Amino acid sequence: MSSSETETSTRRQPHAVLIPQPAQGHVTPMLHLAKALHARGFHVTFVNSEYNRRRLLRSRGAGALAGAAGFRFEAVPDGLPESGNDDVTQDIASLCVSTTKHSAEPFRQLLVRLNGTPGSPPVSCVIADGVMSFAQRVADEMGILALVFWTTSACGFMGYLHFAELIRRGYVPLKDESDLTNGYLDTPIDWIPGMGGIRLKDVPSFIRTTDREDVMLNFDGGEAQNARKARGVILNTYDALERDVVDALRREFPRVYAVGPLQAFARAARDEVGDIGGNLWKEDTSCLRWLDEQQPGSVVYVNFGSITVMSPAHLAEFAWGLARCGRPFLWVIRPDLVSGKNAMLPEEFVGETKERGILASWCPQELVLSHPSVGLFLTHCGWNSTLESICAGVPMICWPFFAEQPTNCRYVCDKWGIGMEIDSNVSRTEVARLVREAMEGDRGKAMRVNAMVWKEKAKEATEEGRSSSRNLENLIEFLHSGSD
Ligand code: UDP
Repeated sequence: MSSSETETSTRRQPHAVLIPQPAQGHVTPMLHLAKALHARGFHVTFVNSEYNRRRLLRSRGAGALAGAAGFRFEAVPDGLPESGNDDVTQDIASLCVSTTKHSAEPFRQLLVRLNGTPGSPPVSCVIADGVMSFAQRVADEMGILALVFWTTSACGFMGYLHFAELIRRGYVPLKDESDLTNGYLDTPIDWIPGMGGIRLKDVPSFIRTTDREDVMLNFDGGEAQNARKARGVILNTYDALERDVVDALRREFPRVYAVGPLQAFARAARDEVGDIGGNLWKEDTSCLRWLDEQQPGSVVYVNFGSITVMSPAHLAEFAWGLARCGRPFLWVIRPDLVSGKNAMLPEEFVGETKERGILASWCPQELVLSHPSVGLFLTHCGWNSTLESICAGVPMICWPFFAEQPTNCRYVCDKWGIGMEIDSNVSRTEVARLVREAMEGDRGKAMRVNAMVWKEKAKEATEEGRSSSRNLENLIEFLHSGSD
């Protein structure tokens, strides 16, 4: 090829710039999507926050950001002041406000710079996190095709979309604090499209406020409305799993691409990008060897994701519940999982369970969940954790913490029949009882059967010609229009 022909073909190659909210549950699925696009011929630029870039360098080494041919990393500031501790999840409300205010201009400058980089195709599309709509706005202003990726479940997204209507109809804000405990949250909400049978408590938790000016109520509600301005909405779910909600969204939005579970497409793309990964904590892989020594389906895996914070009293209840349940367990306790001081496990607990329990601070979760020894997942119901559990066919005990986790919990327990909810005011007796019921009881048996059905459907969805594969091909075709 002559140099001018090479130049022409580089110019025609589509170039996608992907920018996740700089939090683990957003970085991971956005990276999966980036790998899937790269494997399908896209030049990819993946934009971290500078804070997360430092964390990735520490957790994974320089290789983490070396990229691959046609796969590059960049970073923009999040605008938050330095905290002196680079190993914690930043406060999410502050992050939302700060990125909106401070990341837009650096992002615009980045797009300008990428467009002027010799040998790199011009930016043809931007995929902005649903809660980073400033990136969609910047792309629009520059005439670049922009789509949003809502990394939540479809039901979570639909919930956020109806914050405005819940306010308009007077359900929200709550009249006073007592509404949190007096049964008000059990009020049926039967008018959100595609979400029959839900209650106010199943709507994303940011409605649980008495303050009309509450940051997250306004932020997430507003960002969901901003999705209406995007040229398309991408979701990490599959049609069969959330059919009613996805269909309802398709009636409201011109282009909805349900392309999940994205990890399946990312795995298939592995050869091309090698070991690019996005875990912000250093993974402890020794738990996999421990799992190798356990009986099939015997282990309770406990992990509350990257943001959940619990009180020392809750930690103690979970600990004694696990001690009482009599099952082997793998419990991941992030360094910042417990609030305040005295965030220590009771000494007697450690002594009593050391023969059958193991602790880690961060693990390769997808590998853990797909390990044959794991029989149950005690989870906070973050969407990635939920989907990873579905893909592995592992039933759940759900202890939702915030955001759309209560929505996911409702779907896991009641619509998909693969989980049981644990009271937010958790007790050791209930932990032990639910673990036993899930591992030995009739309910557990039914959950395991259902979990295998949803696992099979997830696998099918990503096979060639099936729903998520087709939706991904349609998305790619549309993204190509940005480079025409
Ligand atoms: N994760 C992991 N190792 C851990 C804990 C979490 O790899 O020890 C990953 C997990 O697989 C998931 C993500 O971190 O992909 C957490 O996202 P999720 O949506 O479940 O919850 P969030 O952290 O956003 O609350």
